[in-house]
Amino acid sequence: MVTLENILDIAKRRGFFWQSCSIHGAVAGFYDYGHLGALLRNKWEDLWGKTFLGLDDNFYEIKTSVIMPEAVFKASGHLANFTDPIAKCKKCGNVMRADHIIEDVLKESFEGITPEGLTELIKKHNIKCSKCKSSLENVESFNMMFPLDVGAGKSTQRCYPSAETAQQAYVNFKQEFEALRRRLPMGLAIIGKAFRNEIAPRNALIRMREFTQAELQIFFDPDTINEHPDFSKVQNYKLSILPAKGKKIVEINCKDALTKLKLPKFYVYHMAFVQKFYTDILGFPKEKFRFRELSEEERAFYNRYHFDIELDLESLGGFKELGGIHYRTDHDLKGHQEVSGEKMEVNIEGKKILPHVLELSFGVDRNMYALFELAYVEEKERTVLKFPRIVSPYDVAVFPLVNKEKMPEKARDVQKLLADAGFVVFYDSSASIGRRYRRMDEIGCPAGITIDGDTIKNNSVTIRDRDTMKQIRIKIKDLPEILKSFLSGEKIEKLGKLV
Ligand code: AMP
Repeated sequence: MVTLENILDIAKRRGFFWQSCSIHGAVAGFYDYGHLGALLRNKWEDLWGKTFLGLDDNFYEIKTSVIMPEAVFKASGHLANFTDPIAKCKKCGNVMRADHIIEDVLKESFEGITPEGLTELIKKHNIKCSKCKSSLENVESFNMMFPLDVGAGKSTQRCYPSAETAQQAYVNFKQEFEALRRRLPMGLAIIGKAFRNEIAPRNALIRMREFTQAELQIFFDPDTINEHPDFSKVQNYKLSILPAKGKKIVEINCKDALTKLKLPKFYVYHMAFVQKFYTDILGFPKEKFRFRELSEEERAFYNRYHFDIELDLESLGGFKELGGIHYRTDHDLKGHQEVSGEKMEVNIEGKKILPHVLELSFGVDRNMYALFELAYVEEKERTVLKFPRIVSPYDVAVFPLVNKEKMPEKARDVQKLLADAGFVVFYDSSASIGRRYRRMDEIGCPAGITIDGDTIKNNSVTIRDRDTMKQIRIKIKDLPEILKSFLSGEKIEKLGKLV
């Protein structure tokens, strides 16, 4: 069974991720990605973009500022409501997430309960400080945004770094609507940073204070919520859902979800694509994926439909939230309209519309962690990261068998051939070939090409499959084509003769 420690160990040792600034005494909740982590993230982000921007030709990525004036957060409700409940110890001053310490004792979720409700629970169950076991003060609300003063002297302006990428899409809605020639639905995606002063950062990339989100805000006419031009393509696709009141995951096809769960077509269509992204494209086992419906108490008041995207992460003891699909109605544009005085209503062929928003939200770092869970395997004589080939940090490794007899020169030629063809190539000539194969396995490189004596004689090379360790021999000139098929999922034995 994979543990959090296994993942942290290999991530640090091999150059994926670790706590930021540890030479100066790290602050909890901040992580840096090393060279392999950056490659892995780039691959995942590209795939995410291709998948979700590919859903409609009016969906685009935008790149925006992170620091925004206070008015934005007044409009979004973050100033008033973006709070976590905290409980402070009367004796040692330790501050804890009130809902978490109650959950730890009572073993059920208390998300969405008011501070007063939590104070009552603490008293009723005699819950004490997790450090010194003394009594706790009444639960209070703590705003999780980081205030920031921009400028100096009289011109100082109170700003905040964004707590979610969504707001940047809303403040840009009007400009993009005009630039994209006044069409709905219109999608604006942002892959960007979010900052939250979490009281209890934990589990590495799962609860951080600075993290990355990939979010797509889809603006649409609310009168069309029961339509989607491509719905028939997904109508028989089976969704895995844990209903708000249910204890068991149910499998329900998209068509039945409309009637049985009373969900609109536009919403269900996007659920199907989110599930496909995880199970069909990334290859997570179906039983490890579910949508969890949030109850009315759990979801934000403006979210009419809210299902979390969850994966079963063994190292963290069960299903964890990686993202969510939120039907946010007109809450956001209306808020920005009221505070800014700028009209957000649009006019399409004489019809006045204040668009509604469907948000597909993903935590990038949590997705990185989930990839490690999926990939980490300890076998008899090796540890392997079996990342899906499509997002592995490197596509291919190139090894000269020995550092003589023209092999390094030939290997450099092959490296160049593949790099020019667009592959991300890892070159390794140090230590024995067996050691190099182990290294390739531990960094999750799906294919390894060895240049040997036969290469010099007849321009053929071997390709080794990371997962099965099987090898085939093929001609160098065929490499780009064969590698392309391999990376899109073809079995190694289908691509050449096994050696
Ligand atoms: P939210 O805006 O709270 O719905 O968060 C959207 C997504 O961002 C979540 O589903 C998580 O994947 C991710 N996320 C939220 N908070 C954190 C955090 N503190 N650390 C890492 N990822 C987070």
